[in-house]
Amino acid sequence: MSKIDFPLGALPIANDTGKTINFSASGGHSIYCDKNCRMYDSGCYAVNSEKRQGNLRKSGQRRELSPVQVCNSARLQFRNLRNCWARLSSRGSVPKVSQARKIRGFVDSFAAMISEIVESGSKIHFPVESSSKRKFYQAICDSVKPGAVVVRESVQSLRACLKSTAPRAFVVGDSYDGLGIAGRLKEAHKLARKIRAGGETAIVCPKIKPRGYSGTVAKCGDCTACADGRVLVVLYAKH
Ligand code: SF4
Repeated sequence: MSKIDFPLGALPIANDTGKTINFSASGGHSIYCDKNCRMYDSGCYAVNSEKRQGNLRKSGQRRELSPVQVCNSARLQFRNLRNCWARLSSRGSVPKVSQARKIRGFVDSFAAMISEIVESGSKIHFPVESSSKRKFYQAICDSVKPGAVVVRESVQSLRACLKSTAPRAFVVGDSYDGLGIAGRLKEAHKLARKIRAGGETAIVCPKIKPRGYSGTVAKCGDCTACADGRVLVVLYAKH
């Protein structure tokens, strides 16, 4: 029997059912992240937290060398869990399609992990940064149980957000737009209205709030939009 090489991580942005499964370090420090991601390196929140905590980067890099063991460890741990919020890739990303096909046993172990998580009654938030990854991993998830998992593409431009019909997420604004989080939230809500007017479902992530906000903040797991295939577009204000 496989052993637990890689314990599941906690997820501060989620309620207490949150568990993370990560396959790599982020941005310029991972061979898995697609370089066309607009957050690659400097804009990526995970890169910034890894800069502050060197152990996170090292742990990601260890995982990157052992993606099959990451899947096997997660599968075994989910055997004893129920009704979690399972977040893939809160740091780094999953292997690119060409890499995933080459890593011996990866596709099967990934499918077995997804199967165990679905069986546990957990919801899966699975973001990827390219269309090729979305199609590839969606097909694996659908081979386990059609419709049980939505692989959500983080689209890289407003144009792609408006043009795509796939389940997707888009970050509204950037660090240099001078809008601040409050201004970006307004823009995100404006964009959500426009998308809804075109007949698609769109929501603005409720856990992102302007600086100084003192009310209750939503947590993933209570909000399940990202894991819900009926929600086609999730918008995040850059924060
Ligand atoms: S939309 Fe909901 S599930 Fe997605 S990141 Fe925001 S709080 Fe979490």
